[in-house]
Amino acid sequence: MNGRVALVTGASRGIGRAIAVELASRGFRVAVGYQNSAAAAGAVCSVIRENGGTAVSVQADVSSREQAESLVKTVSNELGAPEVLVNNAGITRDNLLMRMKDSEWDDVLRTNLNSVFYCTRAVIRGMMKARFGRIIAVSSVSGLVGNAGQANYAAAKAGILGFVKSVARESASRGVTANVIAPGYIETDMTSALPEEIKNGILSSIPAGRYGEPKDVARAAAFLASDDAAYITGQVITVDGGMTM
Ligand code: NAP
Repeated sequence: MNGRVALVTGASRGIGRAIAVELASRGFRVAVGYQNSAAAAGAVCSVIRENGGTAVSVQADVSSREQAESLVKTVSNELGAPEVLVNNAGITRDNLLMRMKDSEWDDVLRTNLNSVFYCTRAVIRGMMKARFGRIIAVSSVSGLVGNAGQANYAAAKAGILGFVKSVARESASRGVTANVIAPGYIETDMTSALPEEIKNGILSSIPAGRYGEPKDVARAAAFLASDDAAYITGQVITVDGGMTM
């Protein structure tokens, strides 16, 4: 992609890592955002550089407005203004509603939804001026169909849909697209802690007959970031092996 700059939040592990590696393999210069996993983020950059790509890792807690804004500033200084933003960072704090603590609600909304607002707002002016941009946000099938024990997570992930569609409407005439990817069950640290019986129940509900891999999501993100997806905006691509069709 002619060295375009892509910022991927939460790229030290899991889906974000796969997106960063995939974008780099397609010629993007990649900023690997992370919060705590400095060594893992460094390892992602090493893999990218070993394959001839360009990558820098940048630490920020994207649930903080100040840190999200300084993340975008740092990336702009080190690589150039982001032309692709992948809002991927996310957490779960699962609990049944009747037991859900305020802190579980607040942490998930701040990390999974406020961060998307902060990071997208920080890049949108540059993208509109440049008349090119790609906003991608990683939601979840939980945001589409709900999930018992995830009222906080599903609310944040559904919020992303309304946010991204509004951004898409505001920026479409300036060559900026904004789209959502809604993954189903993808094998990462986030899902590895689930009990075996729950995992088996999920597996039996997936027509594809297998869990998703981070790469399945990364390929969809790379497509949305590409010139081939120039006329696709305000859409939700579900990557779930058919689970919620
Ligand atoms: P993961 O393996 O747990 O990785 C989470 C990533 O987010 C890490 O890189 C982590 O950084 C980063 N992160 C968390 N809080 C952050 C914060 N406040 N500021 C900056 N970075 C932060 O998760 P994953 O499974 O790859 O999930 C990635 C995204 O896909 C999430 O938005 C998740 O909700 C969504 N998703 C996942 C699945 C699934 O089945 N796995 C399904 C649907 C949607 P550090 O490690 O550096 O702290």
